[in-house]
Amino acid sequence: MGILIDPWGSFLIKDYERLIGEYRIEPFTKELLEKLPNPNKLMRRFVVFGHTDLQRIIKAIENKEKFYALSGIMPSYDKIHFGNKMVIENLCYFQNLGAKTFVCVADLEALATRKVKLEESRERALNFHIPAYIALGLDPKKTIFYFQSENEKAKNLCFAFSSKITTSEFKAIYGSLEASRIISSLLQAGDILFPQLENPMPGIIPVGPDQSPHILLTRDVAHRTKSMFGFIPPSAIYHKFTPALNGELKMSKSKPQYCISIPEEEDSIRKKIMDAFTGGRFTLREQRELGGEPEKCTVFELYKQHLVEYDEELNEIYRKCKNGELICGECKLMCIEKMLKFMKNFEKKLEKARKIVDRLKFLK
Ligand code: SF4
Repeated sequence: MGILIDPWGSFLIKDYERLIGEYRIEPFTKELLEKLPNPNKLMRRFVVFGHTDLQRIIKAIENKEKFYALSGIMPSYDKIHFGNKMVIENLCYFQNLGAKTFVCVADLEALATRKVKLEESRERALNFHIPAYIALGLDPKKTIFYFQSENEKAKNLCFAFSSKITTSEFKAIYGSLEASRIISSLLQAGDILFPQLENPMPGIIPVGPDQSPHILLTRDVAHRTKSMFGFIPPSAIYHKFTPALNGELKMSKSKPQYCISIPEEEDSIRKKIMDAFTGGRFTLREQRELGGEPEKCTVFELYKQHLVEYDEELNEIYRKCKNGELICGECKLMCIEKMLKFMKNFEKKLEKARKIVDRLKFLK
């Protein structure tokens, strides 16, 4: 295996194409896009760049068969990032197509890998993360939430899977043999597969590329326990990272000056976007004559991934930038306005969602 990904660490993948083939990720193609009903903006713009066995989900949608979608919440921090937002957008897409939807609060994983107490995880998930997921579009009436520490079925699967993988295979996938990581990975496999315990069905897991080792491991244990459980190996789609505002590949909490979290204060948004790396030219005259380079621009990437819903509007920004009709100063101000609008809307919906958390049904 050429690239080794650490799902708990921070890393940069310089070239997404190198991931195709590694971790059994296949390219997300135009042909697949055309088979998906009403693809969302991340799919239409190929921010979703790869998949594993998406054909199985497309077939289930076409044949109106049952399938599920699942994602996790890592309650170790009081904010979420734009990568979480993309996961939720993709989760909502499949939910709207009829997927039975599960959201797992990974409190045990947070305890094992980040030393966050269970009570702290619970409080943070109830007060912020679950309402945030709802604020970003998840339908609470169609979503089954649960705490990892309370899901006995997933925990039992974790034990069943532990005899199906050797430490050398684990090391080849994760590059580490830390006990907390081994147990968290097997528990994640249990989380991903437990919805199939009573009725094996295809499942789709939307993730960032850093989570691909978990998908690989889960597919392997699903194959290896087929005679015991009959699980269908899960499918996955992978989205690109939101680049850091200095042009690095991924926003990271370790460099907060280049990272916008959700939510974020107005002053901080203004400063960070005004300082952002763009595809602009050195002088105004050059920009007017040569046009900008939106392909290199972190501001354009924010539009493309998060802030501009309609393709016509995005195309118009691209065209104006390329023609030199738009200059970076005014473009950044427009981006700030859109970002502030997004945050305001988010906070409003978050408050509303907090009021319904008491009424949610949690799986026990
Ligand atoms: Fe980026 Fe906008 Fe400048 Fe174009 S005009 S390079 S999109 S900031």
